[in-house]
Amino acid sequence: MQAAAALSLSIPNVSHTSTISPIPSVSKPTSNLLQAIPDLNSLKQIHAHIVKSQSQPSIQTSIALITLYSLFNQMDSANLAFQTIIHTTNTPTFSYNMMIRGFSTYGPHLKSLELYSQMLHSDIPPDKFTYPFVLKACTTISAVHVAREAHGRVIRSGLTSDVYILTALVDLYSKLGAVYDARRVFDDMPLKNVVSWNAMIAGYGYNGLDEEAVRAFGAMLESGLEPNSSTVVAVLPAVTRLGALEEGKFIHEWILRKGVEMNELVRNSLIAMYGKCGELGHAQRLFDEMPERTDASWNAIISAYVQNGLITEALELFYYMQISGVRPTAITVASVLPACADLVDRKLGKRIHGYSVRNGFESDLVVSTALIDMYAKCGCIEEARRIFDGMPERNTVSWNAMISGYGLHGHGDDALELFLSMQREGIEPNKSTFVSIINACSHSGMVTEGLKCFESMSNNYNIVPETKHYACVVDLLGRAGRLKEAYEYIEQIPLEVDDVVWGALLGACRIYKDMELGGIAAKRAIELNPAEPGYYVLLANIYAAKGRWGDAQKLREVMVERKLKKEVGCSSIEQGGTVHSFVAGDFRHPEWGKIHEKMREVGERLKEEGYVPDTSFVLHQVEEGVKDERLSLHSERIALAFGLLKIGDGMPIRITKNLRVCGDCHTTFKLVSRIYGREIVVRDSNRFHRFEGGLCSCKDYW
Ligand code: ZN
Ligand code: ZN
Repeated sequence: MQAAAALSLSIPNVSHTSTISPIPSVSKPTSNLLQAIPDLNSLKQIHAHIVKSQSQPSIQTSIALITLYSLFNQMDSANLAFQTIIHTTNTPTFSYNMMIRGFSTYGPHLKSLELYSQMLHSDIPPDKFTYPFVLKACTTISAVHVAREAHGRVIRSGLTSDVYILTALVDLYSKLGAVYDARRVFDDMPLKNVVSWNAMIAGYGYNGLDEEAVRAFGAMLESGLEPNSSTVVAVLPAVTRLGALEEGKFIHEWILRKGVEMNELVRNSLIAMYGKCGELGHAQRLFDEMPERTDASWNAIISAYVQNGLITEALELFYYMQISGVRPTAITVASVLPACADLVDRKLGKRIHGYSVRNGFESDLVVSTALIDMYAKCGCIEEARRIFDGMPERNTVSWNAMISGYGLHGHGDDALELFLSMQREGIEPNKSTFVSIINACSHSGMVTEGLKCFESMSNNYNIVPETKHYACVVDLLGRAGRLKEAYEYIEQIPLEVDDVVWGALLGACRIYKDMELGGIAAKRAIELNPAEPGYYVLLANIYAAKGRWGDAQKLREVMVERKLKKEVGCSSIEQGGTVHSFVAGDFRHPEWGKIHEKMREVGERLKEEGYVPDTSFVLHQVEEGVKDERLSLHSERIALAFGLLKIGDGMPIRITKNLRVCGDCHTTFKLVSRIYGREIVVRDSNRFHRFEGGLCSCKDYW
């Protein structure tokens, strides 16, 4: 390219940075001399000298100045030199191109569009070297109208076979969300090269059309073109989001077979892909084999561990990263914070929060959003809100995090208020916003409000509801006891529903012990996803509640036959910097004697209060007395007794459970909060319960 050739003026690699002295007398052939400028200071001195000598610099000299200033990223100075020649040069397009290219590379991008418009007004014709950089600037600052006008001009000037311009158009349209326009340009390209294929594949990725991206990759292979490392880096994120392990493996093998350059970007993308697909071994091997690890490689492996629930290992890697001398970035912090949320480790979360503040990451949008999520999940909803309020700017994701935090805590009113102010501030809600807000309504029994939100989704925001949204509505109706309505609702959903929708109805049937509808829902859910043990357990629970022990037993046999294991209930409580975990009937704790003594005491005080255990929550058919015992050995009760023993008065007792807390334990916790005057916060697999003075924040909706 012409412009490229001009810019490749060699700058000798001279190590001395002192000024050139004495300053040579500048005569006519300055341009040759300028080619030997070693650094910016020297350039400025020579330029000053030219100005002082008051002789009009030749056009060549000015062009050399423009070129050099552009190379030193001094666009203002380049522009000054440009202004002196623009009316006299006999190659105005060439000069404009240099400036447009400089501004579109270094910014301000608007400047390159201003020059483009000035060019058109002065009747200086743009050429094939002008458009790629004009389009690049349009892409960066989302200048849609200028871009469309330029596209029209490209067509009128007959430049529609220029692969550089067309590739820039593909890139532009995909990044501006007009992926089908991108595809049209791409399809009409008489000649496609790897760069254009890469732009198209990446374009599908930007627009969330991951399957299309993978398909385009396949089509590229068929076309006989050889993908390069940039293609691989363009397609792998799509494969990762799809969790398409087979395709991912294929690409990995193909890279090895074809000897595609295994650069750092390729490796990081492969680590992310294997991490997302649950193949940690492969991810770890790729990481171990890396000759050099940057922060991006550490980020990739850490989030691979977080995604696979290996939280402790992820945190260890976070420390190793620092020991190995690589500084964690905002992205690292944002990928470690979900680990703290999963562990419900507030202290660690706080430490990482402190780390973010010290390193200036707190104002980072992604980090503050991860902090909101972490604090909400660790039970500190007020702290989450404090961070939300302190954010200098917020995007849809940050609003979603705060709304879903309120949902988790059963603060439906707050969630709804936030949802309204989000709209007032002109922030567009997205699909996830509606999942969060309908869930929040559901967990607070706000049926009318939830339904309204669902309707506004398609009416006001043109978002087509997906099965997950329908599942939220079924949950909303079901939790409120409107089971029949929920069932009829499912029957008229215009999509093919998945097991989650039926699972929502099944969960509601369990709360209201509706065997008939529960049976139907369980049957449909199991048909659609026979490998999910939760559905069998829920149905068995309904049977047991109705005293149909034979049916419950049959279901248990089916589970054994299908090798499905019910997840073991486990409750954790943190005390003195150590996390103590208990499973049901767990006698292994060194202080079991004391804990058991406390449990007996709690049982006595509950009985004095007239509490009768609800034994329908015991799955097996056993004698009543034994049932009581089984209930009282649920893991959360052991953790509660431990908390009453060990956590000082006035401090809330915080317990985390991996499964949903059972109805009888829920009643017990409410009573204990009143009898012992203690605040108890339980996070179960569904949400938060804050027990205080005999009531729970969930208002018994969970
Ligand atoms: Zn229980
Ligand atoms: Zn509750």
